[in-house]
Amino acid sequence: MHTDVQIAPECPHKGCGQVFNDTNFRLAVYLNGVFFLVKSDKGIIGFTCPKCQKTITNSASYNDVLKIKNWLSNTFVDIVSCTENEKGEVILNPKSSFEPTLNYLSPFMLKDEIVDELSIDYFGSTHMDDVSIADEILNHINQTKPELKDWYCSFVGDSNKPICKFRTVYWFDEKKISACLQYENDHGIRIFPRYHYHTGLMESVNSLLEFNYFMGKTFDQAKADHEKDNAKALDVINACAEKTNQNYKNLVKESEVNNTAFLTKIIKQNQERIANDPVIPAKFLKVLTSAPAPLGNLLTDGVCDYLWSEPRPFEDKDFPESFVDEIDDTVLRLRTHEKFNKHVKMAKRVHENQNKQYVQNFLRGKLVKFLEGYENLMQSNRFSYADVWQLKENCLIDLYEAVNRGLRDDMPYAMHREGEGWRIVFNGKPFSGLRGKGFYWIYYIISAPGKKVYYRDLHAQFGDKEQTEKVIAIEEKDVKGFLIGEQLSLSDDAVYSNRNKEELEKRQSYENIYKKLSFEKAEAISKGDTTKVDRKIHEINKVLKHLDGENLKYKLKDHKLIFESKDTTDTKDTTDTKEATGTKYKIINDKIKKNYRDAMGKIKSIREAKDLYTHFSDHIKSEGGAFIYTPHEDIIWHLD
Ligand SMILES: [Zn+2]
Repeated sequence: MHTDVQIAPECPHKGCGQVFNDTNFRLAVYLNGVFFLVKSDKGIIGFTCPKCQKTITNSASYNDVLKIKNWLSNTFVDIVSCTENEKGEVILNPKSSFEPTLNYLSPFMLKDEIVDELSIDYFGSTHMDDVSIADEILNHINQTKPELKDWYCSFVGDSNKPICKFRTVYWFDEKKISACLQYENDHGIRIFPRYHYHTGLMESVNSLLEFNYFMGKTFDQAKADHEKDNAKALDVINACAEKTNQNYKNLVKESEVNNTAFLTKIIKQNQERIANDPVIPAKFLKVLTSAPAPLGNLLTDGVCDYLWSEPRPFEDKDFPESFVDEIDDTVLRLRTHEKFNKHVKMAKRVHENQNKQYVQNFLRGKLVKFLEGYENLMQSNRFSYADVWQLKENCLIDLYEAVNRGLRDDMPYAMHREGEGWRIVFNGKPFSGLRGKGFYWIYYIISAPGKKVYYRDLHAQFGDKEQTEKVIAIEEKDVKGFLIGEQLSLSDDAVYSNRNKEELEKRQSYENIYKKLSFEKAEAISKGDTTKVDRKIHEINKVLKHLDGENLKYKLKDHKLIFESKDTTDTKDTTDTKEATGTKYKIINDKIKKNYRDAMGKIKSIREAKDLYTHFSDHIKSEGGAFIYTPHEDIIWHLD
C-alpha cells in the first residue's frame, strides 16, 4: 500500500478468498465505487469485491479514511484511451474521461420505508454556491439532531465537488451498520452512497436528471410523498384543534399545509419543457451517441480498455493481483471491439438523421423512462460504469431501429425483409409479399452497384444446407466472396437476415483485432521488446484458439486473417477433378439464375410494378458467372 493503511488484504466472504493490494484495490474502486463512513474519531471503508460481488468493510481511524481517500483521489494516473476507427486504424486519445478524482454520487433518495426500517437520518442538499456542503452538514446536525455527531456520516468533507446538483447525505447509527450491510447484500439495494471516479458519461446523464426529479425523487413520487406528509400534518392540526378548542379550518389556513400547488406547477412546466424545449432532445442525443471512455494507462498499455463495456468482468473469476498482464482477456477484447464497431455505426446513422421528426419524438418520448432506468441502476448494489453504458446503448439500439424504420418509409427506393418475404419500394410505390430465394439475390445485387456479384458466392453464403454437401471446392484465388476484405465493407448495409448480418460483423471484428495484434507484434519486434512480443503472441494464440472453439476456418496471410467459405472447407478433401468442378459450377449457376428468373417473373406478374420490372431488366446484367447492377438513373436504395 502506498499509504500506511492496510485495506482488507483478503476478501472475508465465505469461499471467496480474493487477495487485495494497492493496484487491484484501485481497480475495484474503478469498477464499483467505494464508500466512506465517518464520525469524529472513527471511520469505515467499504467496497465491492469484484469476484464475489459482496460488500467488504474495514474499520479505520478518521485520519486513515482521509489518507486512503486522498490517495485514491489524487495519485496521478496517466490515462490514455485507445480506440479503433472504421478503417481499423488505432487512434490514441490523449486522455479518457476517467479522471483520478473521486466524486460523491448520491442523486436519489432512499425510499421512506428503508430509511425508517434502518433508522437512517438524512438531508437533501441542492447545490448553492454560497453555502458549502460541509456547512450544510453542520447546520443539519446543529439544527435538527445534535446526537448525529456520534453517528456515521456518508460524506467525508473535502474539496471535490459532488458531481450531481442534488445529493443526499445520510447518517447511520453504529448499531445499525451491520443491518444496513445485510440489507445491501440481501436486497441488492445500495444503502451507503458511493464515491466514484469521475466520468463524462455519468456527469452528462446526471445533468438530465432535473427533467424528471425534484429533490432526489421523481416528480410523481415527490408529489405523492408531499400529499402523505400533508395528511399527517392535518391529523396533527385536527388533534390540536380539538384539544385547544380552536377552529380547525382556520388553523389549516394559517399553517398553509394543504398546498401542493407549487409541485403541480413544477410538474406541468416540466412536461411542457420535455414536449417543446429543443435543448432536451439535443442533450439526450449527445448522451446516447457519446463514445466509450476506455480505462487504461501507459503502464497497462490499453489492457483495461474493455472495462467500459463489460459489467462485472471478474464475477466468479480470480481478480488479478496486479493490473498489468493477468486480467488481459483477448476474447473479452474481441467482444469489446464488436460492441465498439456497432456503436460507431449506429451513432453515425442516428446523427445523420437527428433533425427528423421521428428522432425528436423518440428522444422526447424515451427520456423519462431512460432516467428511471438510470435511477434503478444507481440505487442497485451492483451498479458500475459499464451498467450505465449498457443502459444508454440499449436505448441507442432502439433509436437506431426507429431511424431505420423512418428512413425506410421516407425513401423512394427501398428493399427490406418483411416477415417471411420482402418488401420493395420503387419510386415511392411499395410492393409487399415478395417471396423466393431470388429476392435475396436481387437484394445483394442492388446493394453492390457496379460490382460483380458471383453466382457461386451467393450460393456459398445463402444456398440450401442440403445442397452444400455436393458443392465442390473453389480454389482460394477464385473466392471473391463478401467474406473477404473490401467486399465485406461494401456489403456493410446489406442484411440478408439478422443471423447473417451478425455473422459478418463478428468475422469483421475478428479480422480487425487480428490485424491490430499482428501490427502490435511487428512493432514490438522492430523495437526489440521481447516481453511485448511474447504477450502479443500469447494474445494472438488466444484469438485463434477462440476461433477454433467456434469452429471457424481461416487462413493467415501477412497481417491478415482471412475466413474461408464454409462450403469450401466442408468439401475440400472430397474434390478432385476439373471436370467435376466444371459440372458443379454449372449446377450452381443454373440454380442461381433460375431463382433470379423466378423472382423477376413474380415482379412481372404485378401490373403496377411494371416500372420496377423494366428497371431491373434494363440494369441488372448477367456476365461471366456474375450479376452486375449498373443503374443509370440517380437511384439510391435504402437497404437494411
Ligand atoms: Zn469476495
